[in-house]
Amino acid sequence: MREIVVISGKGGTGKTSMCAALAHLASGGKLDAGKNIVICDLDVDAPDLHLLLSPAPRRRESFVSGNEAEISPEICIRCGKCAGLCKFDAVLREEDAFVIDSMRCEGCGVCFHLCPAGAIAFPERECGEWYISDTRFGVMAHALLNPGQENSGRLVSLLKQYLFVGGMPEAVLAFAETADPNAARRVHNDLLRSYNADFSKYADDALAERIRRVWRAVPANLAKENRKFMFSKIRESARAREYEDALQWLADTSLVCPSTCVSAPEPPLISHEDESVFKVYLLDVGLLGAMNNVAARTILDDEVLFSSFKGALAEQFAAQEILACGQAGNGLDAGGKLHYFVNQATRTEIDFIVDGNALAPQPVPIEVKAGVNLQAKSLSAFVRKYQPPLAVRTSLAHPSQDGIIEDVPLYALGAYFQKNIAGKL
Ligand code: SF4
Ligand code: SF4
Repeated sequence: MREIVVISGKGGTGKTSMCAALAHLASGGKLDAGKNIVICDLDVDAPDLHLLLSPAPRRRESFVSGNEAEISPEICIRCGKCAGLCKFDAVLREEDAFVIDSMRCEGCGVCFHLCPAGAIAFPERECGEWYISDTRFGVMAHALLNPGQENSGRLVSLLKQYLFVGGMPEAVLAFAETADPNAARRVHNDLLRSYNADFSKYADDALAERIRRVWRAVPANLAKENRKFMFSKIRESARAREYEDALQWLADTSLVCPSTCVSAPEPPLISHEDESVFKVYLLDVGLLGAMNNVAARTILDDEVLFSSFKGALAEQFAAQEILACGQAGNGLDAGGKLHYFVNQATRTEIDFIVDGNALAPQPVPIEVKAGVNLQAKSLSAFVRKYQPPLAVRTSLAHPSQDGIIEDVPLYALGAYFQKNIAGKL
């Protein structure tokens, strides 16, 4: 079997026409002769091949993608929380009732998760139809979205903006005022330069030099497959003892946050820490991108970042969200510390694990996935072995439930925590 794939090209240059011509050529130019040809139109934005090939559908199915919120007026207690939480102004007040504007609803699931009365349903959204059709050159698979339906949410775009800009106030202001990501990057670089100078102001020369080395080594350690902090990334012969004070200095000033390994998922996690094994996160995802010189285009335009930077930015983002809940003083995790879990025997590693509380009494494992791929072997193995009442998998995929595993979109992780783990909303 031969397969020809037209992957991409500048808009308007004739990709669709060329595909139609290839279908014609592959059929030997004979009408109704292409019995062995399969044509697929996989264009997500403008699938227009049907305009040229006039397919006659022989099978027609609904195309379901994402979810849409629906408020039940019988259960709703009119508290208005959903209207305050929705970033897209999709919850409207109509006289005495709250309703969802389906044209504006991005299907993020925040209102569904946080409604105190459980009044919001979150059914799957029918976005269009897909077809298996006959054309004069052979069978064709194609699909059409309903008007106004998109495959990717605006929240994912906002998340990507945040992953580049980060949360340092001056960088956020520069981006808000100019809409230019490079303005934010200039602020990041200024901040990094001033941190570098500050190390010498607040520490003696020898300590300042060690601090600089540890600081510079953090992004390289986060970029590794397992992200464990290796002192050898500072210098080949570096020993932990030499750099402990520098690392502590950075943690005390909140420029970095260590995540300590625990070997047993039992409360309190702090009693199962192995202090010699840890990862180190920075204080801000924007600074992490700047230290790695990750270009705006790489983050904002596509999902390359999630594969090429091996999910480090996504994990850094999740670390910040978890810390933000912990630092809010909810007793989520003693002292706002981060933990991750490793079982050497079964080679199971979970990106984060947090102490539970009254709502979720057992430690909760949290797996951060790159992109929309939900395969999480370690989390599944953890669930089978320890049977926690709740496990969280966070990614760019839509919210859903897989047994006791809750799939929470990355952009909603903070809100999910506040409600279901910290119990603050
Ligand atoms: S949060 Fe729930 S209960 Fe409150 S107004 Fe919205 S739907 Fe009604
Ligand atoms: S699902 Fe998200 S976008 Fe839709 S109404 Fe709820 S909060 Fe708004």
